[in-house]
Amino acid sequence: MAELQIVVCVKVVPKPEEIRVDPETHLLQRVDTRSEINPPDMNAMEMALSLKDRHGGRISILSMGPSFFEPNLRVALAMGADQIYLLSDQSFAGADTLATTYTLAEGVRKIGEIDLVFCGEESSDGATGQVPAGLAEWLNYNQLTLLTEVNLDQQARFILGKREIKGGYEILEAPLPCVVSVKTASNEPRFMDFQLRSWAQEKERVTIWDAIDIGADPAYIGLKGSPTWVTGLAEAPYRERRREFLQGSPQEIAQNLASILFKQL
Ligand SMILES: Cc1cc2nc3c(=O)[nH]c(=O)nc-3n(C[C@H](O)[C@H](O)[C@H](O)COP(=O)(O)OP(=O)(O)OC[C@H]3O[C@@H](n4cnc5c(N)ncnc54)[C@H](O)[C@@H]3O)c2cc1C
Repeated sequence: MAELQIVVCVKVVPKPEEIRVDPETHLLQRVDTRSEINPPDMNAMEMALSLKDRHGGRISILSMGPSFFEPNLRVALAMGADQIYLLSDQSFAGADTLATTYTLAEGVRKIGEIDLVFCGEESSDGATGQVPAGLAEWLNYNQLTLLTEVNLDQQARFILGKREIKGGYEILEAPLPCVVSVKTASNEPRFMDFQLRSWAQEKERVTIWDAIDIGADPAYIGLKGSPTWVTGLAEAPYRERRREFLQGSPQEIAQNLASILFKQL
């Protein structure tokens, strides 16, 4: 049986407190901001790693972004991934979800024959949640979204997934190859293995590909390949929260609180 081939799509995002948007271009300012792996992608990685624990195989991390994302991505190697592929080219900049999913799909094809592509539920900066479904469309793979658990029947080449719904859960199955998006906080991502630290720093663990390397059509990438633009930005008005500090002994505070709550009824 061929070795299981898994890709995990990992986006590097600005730390929430450092998200800034260029007022003129309406694009995210990425230089001089501290970045981290998109937190939901840690859940996607954990789900992929747990499959590797059970079935063996190889995990490739795929990311589109500037080359200075490389140190952030190496964390995935220290968690148990095998190789990083970073799609980095000035011509990829300003991509909307259509151009992003096209570029990532070309990256998946370039890596080789893949059984499973894992994504997070959504990114903490763009937050459209469109990438997993778009990727499945470009690749013509099946897709299972918002899963909290997966099991694999490697012989029959089927993936079984659990998705929580109101009042219960449903079990879904799909033949491989398949794109899976993972529900945020559905698992506890493992810590880095410190024994892997120096291996994870080796130069050859990261492959950087540009638009020519992945054979991307220039009409489908970056701003040029993006049919949507941000035409305006507005700051959400700040709303002062009402608050009141109650004074007195614990009994007085409790009585006071009870009478305030009673008046609200
Ligand atoms: C200021 C701003 C303006 C934007 N304007 C537009 C716009 O006008 N039109 C539009 O369509 N989009 C717009 N976007 C979204 C932007 O194009 C996205 O960052 C990008 O397309 C990916 O979509 P997402 O971040 O919503 O990913 P999501 O679909 O929310 O992410 C789901 C998962 O896909 C994977 N993923 C997403 N991006 C990557 C990546 N780069 N590399 C690897 N994996 C990835 C991750 O696993 C992630 O958890 C804007 C974003 C920002 C911050």
